Amino acid sequence: MEKINGEALFSLKDKIIVVTGGASGIGRTVANYMAAMGAHIAIFDVTADKAEAVAGELVELYGHRAMALACDVTKPEQVEQSLERVAETLGVPDVLVNNAGIGQHKFCLDLTPEEWLRVNDVNYNGIFYMATAFARLLIRHGKQGSIINTGSMSAGIVNVPQQQIAYNSSKAGVIHMTHTLAVELADYGIRVNAVSPGYIFTEMTAKRPQSLRDEWISRTPQKRLGVPDDLAAAYIYLASDSARYTTGSNIVVDGGYTII
Ligand code: NDP
Repeated sequence: MEKINGEALFSLKDKIIVVTGGASGIGRTVANYMAAMGAHIAIFDVTADKAEAVAGELVELYGHRAMALACDVTKPEQVEQSLERVAETLGVPDVLVNNAGIGQHKFCLDLTPEEWLRVNDVNYNGIFYMATAFARLLIRHGKQGSIINTGSMSAGIVNVPQQQIAYNSSKAGVIHMTHTLAVELADYGIRVNAVSPGYIFTEMTAKRPQSLRDEWISRTPQKRLGVPDDLAAAYIYLASDSARYTTGSNIVVDGGYTII
């Protein structure tokens, strides 16, 4: 038996990590944990001010390099340019946390085509634009890496009592896209996995009425909403070299919601 350096197991020391939707909720918290594990972070978000504030906080807390870019994941050109900026400023990234997403509660027959397209544009097309631009950049530079897509338990179940067909469909697409990218990018040493949260208390779910959140809690075996901190270790594992044989997986973190 060899002596193991336990502390190095999940280290992200000097990894360069892009987090989309990193100015809020799950992305912001995951960025904080990843910086704590030694990573340099690029926050991508639609609102520049919010993204800059988070990057500034990371520098202050950990003294690592961090940057912020106003990047809308639905705009392929912006996505390409923003990733180039990261490569020039921090270095070619190692990890993409492909996390930006929006929610929507609406009955299927009331949904307009525009509303359907908007949710799918951010949650589904955005994941594809970011993942493929990231992979092209890495391949061009001969670098290997890891993509972590934020899916959702909604990829595999139909949430009730609210109605959210566009969201559920977009997340189901994200999971199968994760599988497909994992296979197609394996030859390039790029791993692709997903984390699928259950109900997590963030800016997204805080907008919903307390009565609805109480209903979600009553349906969750652990009888509470998750918080973004509950997810951090799953992202850290998938970003770390310890996950070198893990690709195409989907880690569900949902307080037991989907097992009953
Ligand atoms: P938040 O709303 O707190 O954070 C999402 C962030 O993404 C926001 O900063 C938002 O900016 C940003 N964003 C929205 N659209 C775009 C875009 N086009 N380009 C770049 N950034 C964008 O949500 P959560 O942290 O809760 O959600 C993060 C991810 O987790 C999402 O993919 C979501 O679907 C998923 N998820 C969340 C669950 C939950 O219960 N909270 C459960 C399962 C999955 P702005 O606020 O300015 O619009």
